[in-house]
This record gives sequence, structure tokens and C-alpha cells, in this order.
Amino acid sequence: KHTAELIAAGEVVERPASVVKELLENSIDAGATKVAVTIERGGVSLIQVADNGSGIEAEYISTAFIRHATSKIQTQEDLESIHTLGFRGEALASIASVARVEVLTRTEPDEFACCYRIEGGEELGMEPGARPIGTTISVRDLFYNTPARMKFLKKDSSEGTFVGETVSRIALSHPEVSVSFIREGKLLYKTPGDGDLRSAVYAVLGKEFARDLLPVKSSMGNYSVSGLITPPRACRASRGMQFFFINGRFVKNRTMMAAMENAYRGTLMQGKFPGCVLMLDMPAQLVDVNVHPAKTEVRFARENDVFDAVYGAVKNALGQPGS
Ligand code: ADP
Ligand code: MG
Repeated sequence: KHTAELIAAGEVVERPASVVKELLENSIDAGATKVAVTIERGGVSLIQVADNGSGIEAEYISTAFIRHATSKIQTQEDLESIHTLGFRGEALASIASVARVEVLTRTEPDEFACCYRIEGGEELGMEPGARPIGTTISVRDLFYNTPARMKFLKKDSSEGTFVGETVSRIALSHPEVSVSFIREGKLLYKTPGDGDLRSAVYAVLGKEFARDLLPVKSSMGNYSVSGLITPPRACRASRGMQFFFINGRFVKNRTMMAAMENAYRGTLMQGKFPGCVLMLDMPAQLVDVNVHPAKTEVRFARENDVFDAVYGAVKNALGQPGS
């Protein structure tokens, strides 16, 4: 294998959770309304994502998996510029270069499904198969051919937890898609896919958390904030139940967190933290989501506007308008 190709694969495929993120995003891009994610041994021995999306045309499968532009990466500078491209069109190729991959897919006009296999970047062939319209991608033995990468993985249970976080974030940001998560043979949840955030939260975060959540819906200029927050008396001992999304993408962000928590000031018990699932929609040119596809940090052109929008929206939801 080309070293450059493996380096690039390492950049996009860091661990099982990064594979799951790419596959789930592809399913959603393909218009799926139902997606099932299955992992075994934390995703190291198996990651399977099955969807009812458009399917991949037989003639196109190979193209989707082969990186045609390996020559793009020859210098350090090239690698850096690749970051900013966000690896568009490279996820499947990267995954296939470091695992054993099987794809079973069928499009609407096709009578049969197509089963395609590729291992360590080597195509093993294609044969007819059967399944309803949609795609199932199975990724086995991640990093079997890159022991150095394998060494960076944590124990299976931790990798499984990272996968769980990834699946939850996507399930919460796409309540219109029914997402099932099967970990080590056990169905952990299945969101209804009815488009209602509250029912997705109920499935993913549990009924205890979902009880009495307050709806958030406000806008300020170009910024609009929506979602659900915990009532002050139901606040928790940690920040583990705070989820923020910007323009549909999961982020970790201090400004949003501080704005939300500040809005609760005076209503919280000592040492308690609110929980939330908050979606901020804002002009894309005012937020820099930059760098690596796996990174969750963002930077704002106008930090204060973000603070004010989130603060105001949460205040309103708590029934204490203004500031
Ligand atoms: P990108 O998503 O950036 O285009 P990927 O390597 O993730 O690159 O996927 C390559 C292509 O394979 C996609 O553009 C899409 O055409 C096709 N594809 C991948 N996964 C699916 C899927 N689950 N359903 C339908 N098409 C898919
Ligand atoms: Mg993709």
C-alpha cells in the first residue's frame, strides 16, 4: 500500500467512531429514513451500517471506494490542504484501505442487489445478492493491516462508548431518521424517526432525562436557537447531558455552554448543571468549523452575538424573558 494513502486513511479513520460517523453521514446523504448501526468488540471486529437510502449503482460502487487521487498527497503541505478539503469523497476509500469491507446495495431500478468486497484497498470482486433498496456496509477487522494504528485504540468497551456518542449525536440531530443502535448483540435504542426531537431524546437519553424538558425556540437577527432544556430543578451533577449543534453539526463550544448556564443563574442548586439539546442555526460564513472532519471545535466571527442568542433563547424558555 502507498504510505501516503495509509497516512490519509489514518487522518480520517482514527477509530471505530470515525468510521461510524462517515457511514452514518453517507446514509443520511442518501436519503435514508431508517438506519441501523451494529458494532461488535467496540467496532473493532465489526461495524455495520444498514440503511434504506437510495442505494449505490452497480457501475459506480468501485468508483466510490477507490481513491483515484492518491498523488494529491506527496508533501506535508498537501496533507494540510487535504484537511481543509474535509476529505470529500475519500471516506470510503480510506476505510477500505484499513479494513475488510463488504457492501450490499440495491437501487430502485435494480431487481437484484450487488455485493462488493474490498480488503486493504484491494478489490475482491462483485457478485449478485438480495436485499431491499438501500445499502449495508460492513467493516470488519479495522486496522488489521496497520498494527501501528491498532495500538492507538483504547479497550473495546471505550471504543464502543465513543461509537455510542457518535450515534447519539447523529440520532439527536436527525429526529426525522429512525436510528437503531445495536452494541454487542443488544439493541440499546431505536429512535422513532417521526421528526420530533423530544421522542428522539426519549429514546437516546432515556425517559428520566426526557421528562418535563422545556422547549426552546427563539431567534435574534440571523441566529436562531431551538431544542430542549432541562427544568432547573431537574439539573444534574455533571455536564454530560449537554449537546450543542451548529447548522446540524455537533460541536463542543464554551461560548454556547456559558451562555446556556448563565441563563439558569439563580435557579440552580449549588454544583448542579443543566442538560440540553440545543440547535443553533446561523450564517455559515460567521462560523469557522475548519480543520479536520473529526474535530468538534468551532470559532465564531462574532462571539457576543452567539452568546446573546443562546442566552436569550434559554432565558425565554425558562420563562424569564429579557436581559
Ligand atoms: P463523500 O460522502 O464525501 O461523497 P464517501 O467516500 O463518504 O465520500 O462516499 C463516496 C460516495 O459513495 C458518495 O458520494 C455516495 O455517492 C456513495 N455512497 C456512500 N455511502 C452510501 C450510501 N449509504 N447510500 C448511497 N450512496 C452511498
Ligand atoms: Mg461521505
